[in-house]
Amino acid sequence: MTNQRPQTPREAWTALQAGNRRFVNESREHPNQDADRRTAIAEQQKPFAALFGCSDSRLSAEIIFDVGLGDLFVVRNAGQVLAETIIGSLEYSVEVLGTPLILVLGHDSCGAIQATINSTEGTLVSQGEFIHNLVSRIQPTVEQANRDGKFDIDDITELHIQDTISELLGRSTLLANAVKAGKLGVVGANYRLTLGEIHPIVTIGDIN
Ligand SMILES: [Zn+2]
Repeated sequence: MTNQRPQTPREAWTALQAGNRRFVNESREHPNQDADRRTAIAEQQKPFAALFGCSDSRLSAEIIFDVGLGDLFVVRNAGQVLAETIIGSLEYSVEVLGTPLILVLGHDSCGAIQATINSTEGTLVSQGEFIHNLVSRIQPTVEQANRDGKFDIDDITELHIQDTISELLGRSTLLANAVKAGKLGVVGANYRLTLGEIHPIVTIGDIN
């Protein structure tokens, strides 16, 4: 990655893709991870992208995109399930920090999606009432997928990412307006755990 901060949705997405390619090819540059960078951004952060992804320990944001301090505004929870606090965090990144891109990142073999599939099939009953809260938010996507004849976890994960982006832009007028104004792009993508690759599923705004 160059030292120039990506300014537009397209530049931000290009930078993330380039960083992920370096990670996949084992040619990471580890940018922006030294003391100089730490000092330079101590006063003010200006991340070039916001990432809303699953908490999975294998989805480490800065590693898989080969970026450093101050580059990504990261929001994560199990199964990347929207909540008002999540939407608020993403609005903050766009309105206050001027972030030109939101990446919604799911992945294969997601435990939260699998738990929801199992719960829908009746083979899993969670003891945690707050775990139930996560599962119940993914459940409508699983049920709709099943009605459409889709039972595969990868298919359901893709639908969940699409539904998450629809809900995000449906609920946040601020984010929807930023997309309309050309200031914000939104990408939904799937991360492949074995390959380390990012596969885009949805792109919204001036991205490509
Ligand atoms: Zn997951």
